Amino acid sequence: MTEQQALQERYADSLMNTFGPPKLVLTRGEGAHVWDADGKEYVDLLGGIAVNALGHAHPALVEAVTTQLSTLGHISNFFTSAPQVELAERLLAFAGAEGKAFFANSGAEANEAAFKLTRRTERTHVVVAEGGFHGRTMGALALTSKQAYRAPFEPLPGHVEFVPYGDEAALAAAVTDDTAAVLLEPIQGEAGVVVAPEGYLAAARRVADEHGALLWFDEVQSGMGRTGSWYAHLPSGVVPDVITLAKGLGGGFPIGAVLGLGRAADLFDPGNHGTTFGGNPVACAAALAVVRTIESEGLLAHAVEAGDRLRAGLIADPRVTEVRGEGLLIGLDLVSEHAAEVTAAAMAHGYIVNNPTPRRIRLAPPLVLGTADVDAFLAAWPRILDDAGVS
Ligand SMILES: *Cc1c(COP(=O)(O)O)cnc(C)c1O
Repeated sequence: MTEQQALQERYADSLMNTFGPPKLVLTRGEGAHVWDADGKEYVDLLGGIAVNALGHAHPALVEAVTTQLSTLGHISNFFTSAPQVELAERLLAFAGAEGKAFFANSGAEANEAAFKLTRRTERTHVVVAEGGFHGRTMGALALTSKQAYRAPFEPLPGHVEFVPYGDEAALAAAVTDDTAAVLLEPIQGEAGVVVAPEGYLAAARRVADEHGALLWFDEVQSGMGRTGSWYAHLPSGVVPDVITLAKGLGGGFPIGAVLGLGRAADLFDPGNHGTTFGGNPVACAAALAVVRTIESEGLLAHAVEAGDRLRAGLIADPRVTEVRGEGLLIGLDLVSEHAAEVTAAAMAHGYIVNNPTPRRIRLAPPLVLGTADVDAFLAAWPRILDDAGVS
């Protein structure tokens, strides 16, 4: 038995079976590469599901976390620290509107907080897109349409209505003067990287304004530079009232954020919401290191360039029928339902990819992914599809 097999057996005996069997036991990472317990090397094209923006063990992130932890690690929200305030200022400045931040520890927690924030409008109706994913707490699950995730946990917090993603008329028909918020991902990540059609976000803004509803963008997966902009909605010119962030924000250190812009900045009063760990100095220092490194290494421009190169190479194979996304958030459709086999074949070739649906492959690699890795993967791509039996 290999070391990996032994640990996988112990995992099965000691961890709740919420994720199915782990595919690998990983031991270390560097840049866009990781190694398993048997010493095999992989190019990580999933980046911990759009989390490891700076790749693995980036010196700037390691330095920021270790320095902060050895100076002041945790203080509770009776107190604040410079990293917390500075991070809030930076994230709000990227949004291009006046506002205020609330820090949490994950995407679901950020969405949970934002869901509560919408209730402070004294309305309860929330309109959400089908195919969206917003997390696994009871509140975040209530906002997530997938029946398989919801059914075992019903009844969920109510007054949530789902409309087809990208359908302006359906959205306009669903929103009323009782609607607290419209919640959308500018790019649906878990659905397999589905980009909002041209004009859809602006239409959502108009509809929300007509009825006095908040417009809330879940940028947990699409935000923090992954698409080549700080937030995926920025190129649309639409200014939402609420933005939620998490995955890439801490570059692997857990942190989430809610940005409330305009009137949404002041909807919470003292005592309305809270968290013990949220906004702690270490997590905020990690996120500041991510922000500064994206700036100093020019990673927004690099994400666009590397993403375009990947998309062009992936679609070149006729067994790929469509490739979508912006920057380094990439989804593609296969001619046949072999996405799980493609993920397995890619792993055998030393590449980590993900299959969010039976026909779709998603890539969300570190923003530091090098061109040599891109080209090596594209060279292997036809053989990966051969081995997976895609035809
Ligand atoms: C992953 C994700 C979440 C949930 O984040 P967690 O940190 O897993 O709780 C919420 N929204 C979107 C768009 C996501 O991709």
